[in-house]
Amino acid sequence: MVDFKKTVADEVLLRDALEAADIVPLAIALVHLTGQPEILDTLQPHVHGPWDYSESIPAELKREVRERLAAALKEYAAADRPEPPAPPPEVLRKMMRLAAGQPIPDEYAPMMLEQMALDGPAHGVSGWQKKPAATAPNQFKVAIIGSGMSGLCAAIKLKEASIPFVIFEKNDTVGGTWHENPYPGCGVDTPNHFYSYSFEPNHDWSHYFSKREELWAYFERCADKYGIRPSIRFNTEVTAAHYDASRECWRITARSKEGREEAIQAHAVISAVGQLNRPSIPKIPGLESFYGPVFHTAQWDTEQDIKGRRVAMIGTGASGMQVAPTIAADVERLLIFQRSPHWVVPNPNYHRSVSDAKRWVLKNIPFYAQWYRFQLFWGFADGLYPALQIDPDWPMSDVSLNAINERYRQNMIRHIKREIGDDPELLQKVIPTYPPYGKRILIDNHWYRTLKRDNVNLITADIDHVEAGAIVTRDGQSHAADLVVLATGFQAGRMLWPMDIRGRDGHSLRDLWGDDDPRAYMGITVPGFPNFFILYGPNTNLGHGGSAIFHAECQVKYTIQCLRALFENGWASLECRQDVHDSYNQRVDEAHRRMVWSHPGMNTWYRNKNGRVITNSPWRLVDYWKMTGHLNLDDYLVRQHDRASQPAAGTFDR
Ligand code: NAP
Repeated sequence: MVDFKKTVADEVLLRDALEAADIVPLAIALVHLTGQPEILDTLQPHVHGPWDYSESIPAELKREVRERLAAALKEYAAADRPEPPAPPPEVLRKMMRLAAGQPIPDEYAPMMLEQMALDGPAHGVSGWQKKPAATAPNQFKVAIIGSGMSGLCAAIKLKEASIPFVIFEKNDTVGGTWHENPYPGCGVDTPNHFYSYSFEPNHDWSHYFSKREELWAYFERCADKYGIRPSIRFNTEVTAAHYDASRECWRITARSKEGREEAIQAHAVISAVGQLNRPSIPKIPGLESFYGPVFHTAQWDTEQDIKGRRVAMIGTGASGMQVAPTIAADVERLLIFQRSPHWVVPNPNYHRSVSDAKRWVLKNIPFYAQWYRFQLFWGFADGLYPALQIDPDWPMSDVSLNAINERYRQNMIRHIKREIGDDPELLQKVIPTYPPYGKRILIDNHWYRTLKRDNVNLITADIDHVEAGAIVTRDGQSHAADLVVLATGFQAGRMLWPMDIRGRDGHSLRDLWGDDDPRAYMGITVPGFPNFFILYGPNTNLGHGGSAIFHAECQVKYTIQCLRALFENGWASLECRQDVHDSYNQRVDEAHRRMVWSHPGMNTWYRNKNGRVITNSPWRLVDYWKMTGHLNLDDYLVRQHDRASQPAAGTFDR
């Protein structure tokens, strides 16, 4: 709730801030406040896309919006009025159209309103803030594994729904990936104003793409604000969870840092361990004989001073992209070993800080922040989806998928040429030969400029072996180094590894999934594993837009609906039907066969060794939002409580 009196207290500040703010979210805020929508029609012809209007909207129109908004704010402050309610649907539709610069299909409108928290008390299709009609049965407890972004989201929403839970966290604090990855330059490459929970916006991001410390601090703050910390068992790693059908509960084994094992019972388990937290250490002959430090980016040895040393970095994915430009100026030499190049896009905001005025506006002008989030969300949502679809008739199918994908490819090549066009040898090494988006797309963190530095070498010959003081490539070259950084990614396919998760019949997830073939219904539930829910599970990674937080919110909402169904119907358990699971996965595979990640031109951690896409979602955001927004009980086998058995009590109170 904005304090209008504070907003208008300093007229000069207010006018300066309005001047610094973006005109379209300001105009929409004006309509919210005044209830007069005419300005939307006046502006619409000048707006051609999100953010595509700075030149085209006439100066006098911009002035009018700012002046009328300042007057409306003052009027609100003088009358001591509360914020107005959300406008009627037809006005909201026009607002969305103006913000996006194009009509928003009706199917997107409810999702966008939820993202902006403008969808009223029902809060979206699933009403995830609703408490269950029946309270959780006596002693019912949910065990959440992990207190990263997804685990915290689950905890916050379970708490709101009055469902008892405990979180087991292997680390000594919250934050997951943002806590664990200490490498130099670590940060987000999803715009921060929507890489944040929809229910907990942060108007104080210092940058449009913040660095790890700030992201980690955000999650720490959320844990405190929502009172989650007392429900977390830190330094406690879940090693196993076995379903005990006779007692209708999960028997969990947790190990403390000191190695002490503990047995716990819970009635439902939410795994929130992520996909990218078990480093992949390459099997390079002789690596163990290297005389200096060797560490993975996620296990960066902060005790090591890299200044003035010769650093060899293996890997050029998202982590390498952030490390190399950050350390290049400090090291004596940086040797970058590239197995295959990535496609890279520039983003003008990537290094920009958010001005004080902009932050003030986000905090103090009602509705501005929501509409700014809308613009980001729309701009980074399903817009890319068509570019990732394989056109079977496309003639250049080795390097692109369709006309839009080819246009992106040309734009990226143009960017690379602008950066290093004067160095044909380097150029030839860095332009990928597979279609854009085949591997995780990267944002240019001054990568190409870094490659041009005198003290940086990009080595593309394959690594043969490592010796005490050097990396030797197949072309016979020996590359002397003092320290090796492994920017070699994660064992994404071994989801939930190394936990031993066993379902109703004693079969383990590992038996079902093998080493790298995880499958679940909507990435969340698995047949034979009652009351077991996975966040950021199989086929839920986003490769075409959106933010991981959006997906986590969808999965948490779905999980809460499942738990609510248990309580409201007095059931002991619910588990996904095998046929529903199988046909869902068939649809996933079919959709992927038509998408970029099935292209044979590149290797990618999105696929397993059999070529099946296992990590990424093939769905548009709006489709996944709709799928997870409504629990269809026909998809599940439900079990009544067994009157003969004595249900176990949850046992994790200290
Ligand atoms: P990654 O994308 O899997 O990249 C690993 C790199 O190591 C690739 O260049 C790979 O080459 C190379 N590599 C692996 N094994 C090798 C070997 N034996 N010899 C030579 N090179 C080898 O890993 P990542 O960079 O850690 O990123 C993983 C994911 O984490 C990202 O895709 C993203 O989802 C997330 N992440 C996000 C951010 C961010 O938001 N900014 C930052 C870091 C990570 P190939 O390409 O040839 O396989």
